[in-house]
Amino acid sequence: MKTIGLLGGMSWESTERYYRAFNTGIKASLGGLHSARVVMVSLDFAEIEALQRQGDWEAMASILAREARRIQAAGADMLLIATNTMHKVAPEVAAAIDIPLLHIADTTGERLVADGIQRVGLLGTRFTMEQGFYKARLTERFGIDVLVPEAEQRERVHRVIYEELCRGQTEPNSQADYLEIIEALRQRGAEAVILGCTEIALLVNQTDTTVPLYDTTAIHAGSAVARALEP
Ligand code: GLU
Repeated sequence: MKTIGLLGGMSWESTERYYRAFNTGIKASLGGLHSARVVMVSLDFAEIEALQRQGDWEAMASILAREARRIQAAGADMLLIATNTMHKVAPEVAAAIDIPLLHIADTTGERLVADGIQRVGLLGTRFTMEQGFYKARLTERFGIDVLVPEAEQRERVHRVIYEELCRGQTEPNSQADYLEIIEALRQRGAEAVILGCTEIALLVNQTDTTVPLYDTTAIHAGSAVARALEP
């Protein structure tokens, strides 16, 4: 079995889900007492969030690149960055290591293509919904048309992530807002919606809506397990 490298803590509320998914995935395939081989660095999210607000992506790129090298040195065979937003600096991180970086948008794009989805809604932080690093990748590499919520809804989605979900809070009002926004995306033509922030599945999941949801945490972790089991 290969060793999964995880750059987490952004926030730890979702990193916990990755760790669980690695282990349940390996157990489902190998059974018995098997569990995932994992090397993890978990960052202090307060430091990252402050840099995000300052827009200092260069500083974040160098922190993530440095920590990725530590994960590689500890024996990981692949690297996952456990947040959609921080994939903004994925090129700098990938350039700093020799092991493959499993890009969260690629693992999600592959799944959408396999399911025949051509037009998808995207929920995530403002960075993920508004900047090119994520949406453009889905369009350019996978030919998928990406819709994002209207400005006011994007603001709401973003605030709930930082003020509630990354602090471990799930509020019924916020869940209702998210479901309304998901429905609005469907009415605009989305065949499915990407939960493009690793904490969103803590708030909404497939039992809450008939719109097909693509949980990036589960998809990303599942790809790592599949790769870990490759001969
Ligand atoms: N975990 C989140 C994401 O997937 C947001 C927190 C962050 O900014 O990293 O985008």
